[in-house]
Amino acid sequence: MFPELGRFRDPPTAETAFREAQRAQSGIRDVIVAVIALLVLTIVFVEWVEPRLGQWREASQWARTFLSPVYIIGSSYVILRIRRRSIQRHLRRRLIASGVPICLHCGYDLRGLQDARCPECGRSFDARLLLPTEFSSDSVDG
Ligand SMILES: [Zn+2]
Repeated sequence: MFPELGRFRDPPTAETAFREAQRAQSGIRDVIVAVIALLVLTIVFVEWVEPRLGQWREASQWARTFLSPVYIIGSSYVILRIRRRSIQRHLRRRLIASGVPICLHCGYDLRGLQDARCPECGRSFDARLLLPTEFSSDSVDG
């Protein structure tokens, strides 16, 4: 489910990092993204999806929206995606701190690269990631 977990040096380390990531509060950025995503989803649902479903004509528009299985599944999916991204970012930060050069944005393996730009997602990163000694586990862990 999280390919990052396979990159830790052993399963117990991966397990610890995963538990930490689950416990960690989502950053303010994740919360803002979630609120905007739900707002957009709600507007799209109320304006385009709900009128086409034509269910519960006697209920109010808001009741029809928030009680609709389509809306509930859609918004749960959005929340889970954002939560997943938050966990992934935490795991990637942990990997970088333990000396595994990995793209924070997409998880691409950055080993052996010459350029401080991820070939997978095109974002630039700290060139020091390419020098394993700079981010050894002794200096960052703990
Ligand atoms: Zn990337």
